[in-house]
Amino acid sequence: MQDTISWIDEELKQIKDKNLFRILTELQSGQSPEIIIAGKRYILLASNSYLGLTTDPKVKDAAQRALEKYGTGSGGSRLVSGSSDLHRELEDRIADFKKTEAAILFSSGYLANVGAISALVGPGDVIYSDELNHASIIDGCRLSHAEIKIYKHCDVELLGSLISSDKSRNKKLIVTDTVFSMDGDLAPLPELVELAEKYGCMLMIDEAHATGVLGKRGSGATEYFSVEDRVPIVMGTLSKAVGSLGGYVAGSRTLIDFLRNRARTYIFDTSLPASSLAASQAAIDIIEFEPERRKYLWYLIEKFKSGLKNIGLELLTSHSAVIPVLIGEAQPTLDFARLLRENGVFTPAVRPPSVPPGKCRIRATLMATHEEEHIELALRAFKGARDSVLK
Ligand SMILES: *Cc1c(COP(=O)(O)O)cnc(C)c1O
Repeated sequence: MQDTISWIDEELKQIKDKNLFRILTELQSGQSPEIIIAGKRYILLASNSYLGLTTDPKVKDAAQRALEKYGTGSGGSRLVSGSSDLHRELEDRIADFKKTEAAILFSSGYLANVGAISALVGPGDVIYSDELNHASIIDGCRLSHAEIKIYKHCDVELLGSLISSDKSRNKKLIVTDTVFSMDGDLAPLPELVELAEKYGCMLMIDEAHATGVLGKRGSGATEYFSVEDRVPIVMGTLSKAVGSLGGYVAGSRTLIDFLRNRARTYIFDTSLPASSLAASQAAIDIIEFEPERRKYLWYLIEKFKSGLKNIGLELLTSHSAVIPVLIGEAQPTLDFARLLRENGVFTPAVRPPSVPPGKCRIRATLMATHEEEHIELALRAFKGARDSVLK
C-alpha cells in the first residue's frame, strides 16, 4: 500500500517534543472516590460526577429497570422511531427543573451546543463568545458560519462596547459557559443578562458544570443568580453531576419546536437509550430533593481550597467543584501530577489545547461521595508534590 499518512509521524513528534502528547489512563472501576488503576488503589480527584451519582443505588436501579423494559439501544433518531415516553418524560422533567416551558434532549452536551448554535445563527449574524468557552461552543460557532467575536474572559465592559459598536440589524448571540470547565469560575450572569436585554441580543448559556452544584435546588447558575426567567437559551449536560449521558437545551416552547426542526445534531443522530434516560431522571430527583448531598460537597470544596491555600498553592477564582491549581509550563505540571499519583492521588495535568500555553494546571474535582479523610490524604500528597516540583 502506498504510504500517504507518514506525515503523521512528524506531527506526532512535534506534539511529543512540546510535552503535549496525551495517553489514556485505564480505570478498572467506576467513578467512586477510590478507583483502581493497574490493580492499585487511588483517590479519584478528577471526576465530573460531582455528586457521585454514577454509582448511586437509586440511579442504577432506575437504569436497570428501564434497560429490562426497553432494551439496550433506542434504534433510531427521535423523528423516526427513536422517541419513547421516557424521552418526553425526561424533557418535561428538565423543563420543570430549569423552570422553562420546554426542553429538548441531545445525545451529548457537545451535540447540543453544536446543533443549537448552528441552528440559531448563520452567515451575516454575529456571535459574542467568551475566550474560555468550551470547545463544543467554539465548534458550534464555527459551524454556524456567523461572524465570531471573542471577548476577554468575563469582560462585560468590553463585550458592551463590542456590541454597541455593531450597527448591523442581523441576529446577535452572546454565548458563555456559566461555570468555566477549566477554571471553575462563574460568568457574570446578571450583567450579561442586562447587556443582552439592553441591546436585544439572544443569550445562550452552558450549565454543564453548574447543574447539580449551584443553586438551592441544584438547577444551576440561573437559579443561583435568580435569573431563571431572563435567559432565553439554557443548555446543559446530563453527563456531569447528573451522572449519565446526554445534553439538553431548555427554553420557550417556540425555541424547542424550532430546534426539533432545525438542529441537525438532533435530527440526524440516534436518540439516547432508555437506561441513560431513566438514570438522568432519577439523578435529577436526587439533585433537587436531597440538597444535603450538595451541602456536603460545598463543605468539602471549602475545606480542600483552604487546605491548598495553606500549602501556598496558586488557586484560580473557582466557585464550583472544579478546583484548578495553576502550575505554568507543561513539564512541571506533568511532574506534579506524577508525584500526586505516586502518593495515591489521581488528578491529571491539563495542558494546551484544553488551556492556554503557560497556564497548565492540575484540575482537581471533588465529589459529594468523598470523605473528609480523602481530602486530608489528598492535601498531604499536594504538599509533597509542591515541595519537590515548586521549590
Ligand atoms: C463537558 C462539557 C460539554 C460537553 O458535554 P458532553 O455531555 O460531555 O458532551 C459542553 N460544555 C461544557 C462547558 C462542558 O464542560
